[in-house]
Amino acid sequence: MKVLKFGGTSVGSAEGLERVVHVVNNACRHKIAIAVVVSAFNDVTDQLVHMGSLAASGNSGYKTILDEIRKRHENIITAMVSAQEQSGLLADIGLLISELRDTLHGVSLVRDMTPKTQDCISSFGERFSATVLAGVLRSMGIDAEYLDMRPLIKTDGHFGSARVNMEAAYQNIQRHFSIRSALQVATGFIGSSSRNETTTLGRGGSDYTAALIGTALKAEEVEIWTDVDGFMTADPRKVKKVFSIESLSYEEAMELSHFGAKVIYPPALQPTSGLSIPVRVKNTFHPEFGGTVIGRKSASAFQVTGISSIDQIALLRVEGSGLIGVAGISGRLFSALAKNGISVILISQASSEHSICFAVSPQTAEAAQKAIADEFHLEMLAGQVDPVIIERNLSIVAVVGENMRKTPGISGRLFQALGKNGVNVAAIAQGSSELNISVVVPQADESKALNALHEAFFLSQTKTLNLYLLGKGLIGGTLLKQMLQQAKILAGSCDLEMKLVGLGSSKKMIFDENGIPLATWPKILEEGEPLRLPRFLEKIKALNLPNAVFADCTGSEDVIGIYEDVLSSNISIVTPNKIANSGAYARYKQLKDCAARHSVKFLYETNVGAGLPVISTLHDLLASGDRIHKIEAVLSGTLSFIFNTVSHDRPLSTVVREAKNAGLSEPDPRTDLTGLDVARKILILSRETGLALEPGDVVLEPILSQACLNAKNLESFFKQLESEDGIFEKKRALLENKNQRLRYIASLENGKASVALKSAGPDDPFYSLSGSDNMIVFTTERYHDRPLVIKGPGAGAEVTAAGVFADILRIANYLS
Ligand code: ADP
Ligand code: ASP
Ligand code: MG
Repeated sequence: MKVLKFGGTSVGSAEGLERVVHVVNNACRHKIAIAVVVSAFNDVTDQLVHMGSLAASGNSGYKTILDEIRKRHENIITAMVSAQEQSGLLADIGLLISELRDTLHGVSLVRDMTPKTQDCISSFGERFSATVLAGVLRSMGIDAEYLDMRPLIKTDGHFGSARVNMEAAYQNIQRHFSIRSALQVATGFIGSSSRNETTTLGRGGSDYTAALIGTALKAEEVEIWTDVDGFMTADPRKVKKVFSIESLSYEEAMELSHFGAKVIYPPALQPTSGLSIPVRVKNTFHPEFGGTVIGRKSASAFQVTGISSIDQIALLRVEGSGLIGVAGISGRLFSALAKNGISVILISQASSEHSICFAVSPQTAEAAQKAIADEFHLEMLAGQVDPVIIERNLSIVAVVGENMRKTPGISGRLFQALGKNGVNVAAIAQGSSELNISVVVPQADESKALNALHEAFFLSQTKTLNLYLLGKGLIGGTLLKQMLQQAKILAGSCDLEMKLVGLGSSKKMIFDENGIPLATWPKILEEGEPLRLPRFLEKIKALNLPNAVFADCTGSEDVIGIYEDVLSSNISIVTPNKIANSGAYARYKQLKDCAARHSVKFLYETNVGAGLPVISTLHDLLASGDRIHKIEAVLSGTLSFIFNTVSHDRPLSTVVREAKNAGLSEPDPRTDLTGLDVARKILILSRETGLALEPGDVVLEPILSQACLNAKNLESFFKQLESEDGIFEKKRALLENKNQRLRYIASLENGKASVALKSAGPDDPFYSLSGSDNMIVFTTERYHDRPLVIKGPGAGAEVTAAGVFADILRIANYLS
């Protein structure tokens, strides 16, 4: 025989009940002997509790809720039950409703609510639902009978979560079932004391009822039918990519549910594990799926079996010199808590014995504080034990699995995942059975911690990177295009999903935790809210997503203003925007330090040479112990083109005009010709080698005469330049005769950075530089006689966006 328990999530709507009927019918058709246990319709128990407190405070609002509950049950009956069954069933419900009404009326008169009365009120949920379900089954032609479990499940008088007298319960159940042939539709959750007062078995207790019946009748299986595909690797409401666990052990299920996996009530696993009765979790709305079987063995293919969390706990720390070396302290501490009915969720003690820290539910934190103050009154007076402080707004995240026993490195992986996402751990506990590692984290970080851990343990092959992007212009837009093109390849060969979760232009911004579609973002962005940087930042912080990267593809000074905040929120930054790194040294340093402090990356490969691997190469050289003697570089595509093209027939002014017309220069070519941009780049390279240079430290030899720079408009500039063509040509021709060429070269040598027009002979790497290429030459201790040369296009949307993309991927690799 099997016991089928249907939770509140399965009943409570006509659709759900239809599914339940389908499942029950199926079992009957296959001649499987079953007993059915049912919970209250979903939310009804909460409503009953709420009504009780309204009535106790004299608030007649409970009547409206009562009416709602009545209608909800009546509607189901009229919709699902045959005419012939209807009136009898409506009358049964009517009787129960009036009994409940009387009880609530009594409460509202005496304005007093005891746990005993509350249990009586709470019991109606299951009494309603089992009555209705039995009627529905009958009208489908199944010989079903309502079974009030109160007389059978005998308990103590601990109202709210009564302890069951197992022997009596088993006997009563066995006796009852031995004389009934009809299908029993039993109320979950409720029992009665030796004085026949109604008791409840604790919230979620219907699972326990099913386990008790299953154990008493030595069932072959207890099935817990709910609204998800079984026991999942984490709470599906908190973690997106969960999947169902095929099988897990009683101990694992117990640990996971103790630490918040609501899918099963932990006490339900005690009687069943005693007789090794498998407990199967199944989905009423997806019955053909096998679900999860909880039994003797765990069979997880992963290092851990599941992750769960309790989202509100309080942490108390008992500290003081009086704790050291004194036997029996923890005994006294925990007896004091037990005496006051305070249950402890987690304990952690430092080996120094100087401090014991434990977690309780926030409602009992103050009582715990008081219990300790009473117990250690004398020690506190003597200053041997410090006053106990309550830390609130914390969560517990627990990683559970039998495999952890055999596998080293689990905690390393756990703390790495938390650390990389900036989740601070307030306390740690590991069960001596090594079945569970629990960490206490800020409540605000709970979801991030769960998702990061889930990714680390279950999806280590597939990583998700959450990207916020500001700037949808040439570089930002191209980056999005490249991301779209690469999405499949990244998912396939790199198991990486790059999710665009926030996007802002200069006007609008949008956010979507599930990912903004990369093909249709322009339309969606149009309908976004107006961009305001503080709001953008606020949103990033509020989403608090793991593995997050912020890409700044603007050229804006304002955006730099949020960098430090972004990094402090443990989000890496990638940017082609040079402003932050080429301004005051203090700001550059501050950002780098901030990134290091928060273990995140601040990458800006595209600040120099666009997509060319300049900064990363420099880092690699330095990190591997090489020493930089000299950096020389042509860092402006525009200037490169100009000096490569000038010849006897094509004077400087003509070439500059050509560059402008071909879109190779800024609209006013003087912006390029001042050399300022090149100076910024060599400044950044200098800083990357460890030099604390300021912008003013770069010696910049101007290309243009003062007259050119002062020219009022472009035309007069070109005129002036033409008049200087001769001087320039002379210089050039002279060099040409010596087989030398003019190059505008940035250099760093002996700690000094400069930018100047230089001549390059045939032995010089710059001699053969053509077109608008950039070239960076590192002369180092290792690359001494033949320097290391990086050469290629150093500008353009495609290569720059690709460089930004590569930086983002670098961060994704770091996440593994
Ligand atoms: P029922 O009314 O069927 O007893 P519950 O609400 O008590 O349902 O439990 C089922 C719910 O538990 C699911 O809807 C799911 O949101 C939640 N849950 C939390 N953790 C897990 C987990 N690890 N696996 C499956 N469900 C979980
Ligand atoms: N109806 C009860 C509750 O909501 C018992 C249960 O659902 O298992 O807690
Ligand atoms: Mg439940």
